[in-house]
Amino acid sequence: MIKKIDHVAIAVKDLKEEIVRYRDVLGLEFLGTEVVPEQKVTVAFFKVGDVRIELLEPLSPDSPISAFIEKKGGGLHHLALEVDDIGADIRQLQEKNVQMLDREPRKGAHNARIAFVHPKSFSGVLYELQQKGDAS
Ligand code: ZN
Repeated sequence: MIKKIDHVAIAVKDLKEEIVRYRDVLGLEFLGTEVVPEQKVTVAFFKVGDVRIELLEPLSPDSPISAFIEKKGGGLHHLALEVDDIGADIRQLQEKNVQMLDREPRKGAHNARIAFVHPKSFSGVLYELQQKGDAS
């Protein structure tokens, strides 16, 4: 079951520069960075009320985020929905003919379990399902 929007993710070319912009220009609370080798990205999180903004910088040229930045120059990448039982939620979506990019949950930042929904199923919006891990 979907509980709330957990974060809005934005692909950036220069994470250091953007951290300064989000912290000092927007005045948002910086929650820290994390390298997520499984996703080939470094992420930085900011708190905006109950929701977070996640900045994504590619770790390597073969990162999916590199391809996204090359194609679109960066920008809004995905919306993450917090769910309470990711395995069951994936199955329920598939039963309703929603196409999943991940049929099994994989590891995301903060030890969360995540799965992406194919953007074809929702007018081009990439949704990430996220079930919180222990350290979030
Ligand atoms: Zn995310």
